[in-house]
Amino acid sequence: MKRKKKLRFIYLQVILAVYIIMFGVVLSVGRNVLYSSKKSMLSILNENDFSGSVSPEKAQTVLIWEGDETGKDARTEMTAILSQMRIPFTETEASGFTEKDLSGRNTAVLAVTDLNLLGSRLTSLLNWVIEGNSLLFLYSPDNEAGFIAIADRLGITGVGNTLSKVEGLHFTSSIMPGSGRDLAVSDPYRSSLEVTLDDECEVFLEAAGSSQTPLIWRRKLGDGTVVFDNLNFLEKAYRGFHCAAFSLLNRDCIWPVINGSTFYIDDFPSPVPEGDSQFIQSEFGMDIKDFYTHHWWKDVYNLAKKYNIRYTGLVIEDYSGQVSGVFPSNKDITRFQYFGNMLLREGGELGFHGYNHMPLVPENFDYLGMYDSYRQWVSVDAMRDSLNELDRFCRELFPEEEFHVYVPPSNIISEEGRALLAEDFPQIRAIASLYLPDDNDVSYSQDFTVTEDGMVQTPRIISGYVLDEYMRTAAMSELYFHCVNTHFQHPDDTLDTDRGAALGWTELFRRLTDYVEWLHNALPQLRNLTGSELTGAVQRYDKLQIRREEDDNSIHLSLGGFKDEAWFYLRVNDGKPGRMTGGTISQAADGLYLVKATMPEVEIEIIR
Ligand SMILES: [Zn+2]
Repeated sequence: MKRKKKLRFIYLQVILAVYIIMFGVVLSVGRNVLYSSKKSMLSILNENDFSGSVSPEKAQTVLIWEGDETGKDARTEMTAILSQMRIPFTETEASGFTEKDLSGRNTAVLAVTDLNLLGSRLTSLLNWVIEGNSLLFLYSPDNEAGFIAIADRLGITGVGNTLSKVEGLHFTSSIMPGSGRDLAVSDPYRSSLEVTLDDECEVFLEAAGSSQTPLIWRRKLGDGTVVFDNLNFLEKAYRGFHCAAFSLLNRDCIWPVINGSTFYIDDFPSPVPEGDSQFIQSEFGMDIKDFYTHHWWKDVYNLAKKYNIRYTGLVIEDYSGQVSGVFPSNKDITRFQYFGNMLLREGGELGFHGYNHMPLVPENFDYLGMYDSYRQWVSVDAMRDSLNELDRFCRELFPEEEFHVYVPPSNIISEEGRALLAEDFPQIRAIASLYLPDDNDVSYSQDFTVTEDGMVQTPRIISGYVLDEYMRTAAMSELYFHCVNTHFQHPDDTLDTDRGAALGWTELFRRLTDYVEWLHNALPQLRNLTGSELTGAVQRYDKLQIRREEDDNSIHLSLGGFKDEAWFYLRVNDGKPGRMTGGTISQAADGLYLVKATMPEVEIEIIR
């Protein structure tokens, strides 16, 4: 009896304990939900928050370039790629190149169109590779005597008389995140050498379709390595592909990255925009206002919930053309509150787009005849007054929010407008304009960096719902180069035929969903950040100084300008990473690893 009673007592105690634990879990989960929707995952820091410095690395890479048009483009691209990978390098023009330029180096990048320019120095260069160094052909030289003479040493057994028109890209191994999907080339031309290769070549990228023209391959040459980049698209949208080619050269390659994905919604919240509603009418039988609430927002909201995206909305107070005088406040706030609060409740964030959609440019600014409906501001004071009204409006509607991100209307901003933001609106810490330069010279394009005035540049790489193959290419390129995704959409993309309105919202949303799914599967470790969290991530990336020390079995990193975390991609071409101290490591693609440093000294074991 006694024993039974005791057992029952213990039984009750266990139930009680389980109950208390469960109650605690529920409470803490609830608190976390509230907490995470308010607190930033990654704070924006001040200049003096970054401490320590490391002595600079010795340059081990030399860039040899020719001053013709292709050589100049290649030099521009490679200079950007190497500097942002924090690979110190020296450079020399091909005509002045001597063997001395190779002394103390282990890697050469060749951006030369006419190899005859190098004469016998080409043989010296190849002999230097044979001794155990690495050489990247950044683009295909002209198919002339100098090239034909060395082609076999690059693994080339035959070269066609004409160049090959590459209509698509196909990865033969998954060296880049997301490379399982072929990419079509949007404006194909005869771009690449039509080559056949020997069996010792490892091909990583080839033309999609029947030609299978090799586009990036690697081959041993003596004790050294040659990588040949036959892609020949020397522009910003392809930097990640050339970065990939470079990273295949040596045993390991490690470079700092951002690790962040941000989705912006421009003009949101805003008054109901104007536009051609015929497509909405015929597809849904409703007006623009109802379409936005019942279809557009419902769809993009649910997509974000499914993939943990936290949108950054950019507020427009009024679609007026006013550029002087007193700026009246918009009294029609229902939509602002409804959409704004819903976005914030899901952990999103709001930033500034403008009082209206007139770019911050003074009267003498030249739109080059491209924006007929746009007006210039009468003075910097008028710009300031309009932003003060926007600031007041936003604070009144969303008193708990801080507004750190500014997106220039139509991606246009003047020096005056930029200076105004930096000086008079210190809460604005980031400007998010375009990453890829636009066809017109009016747009403001940026790199992921911090400018001297402390303003953080968090450019948007791709946009809209059409998401054509060029955008998909740029997205994949940047997922490798910087480990970053930035996308912006406008609600009124659905009303503009140039942005795909005629395809209908069902198709446009299918494309957005397809992209988001691809991104998620390409790199599940990619962090979903708001605009200001991305600002914090770009600061940590930009301020970082790195000193690498490598031996047969390990990589040691000493980090300067380190605050609390730093991210890297590590490509290991020979072996695989083992244990790590000072951080964590996970696989991102074949031979590619995402490294998080949590200490300023990091050691990664490499098992060869
Ligand atoms: Zn806009």
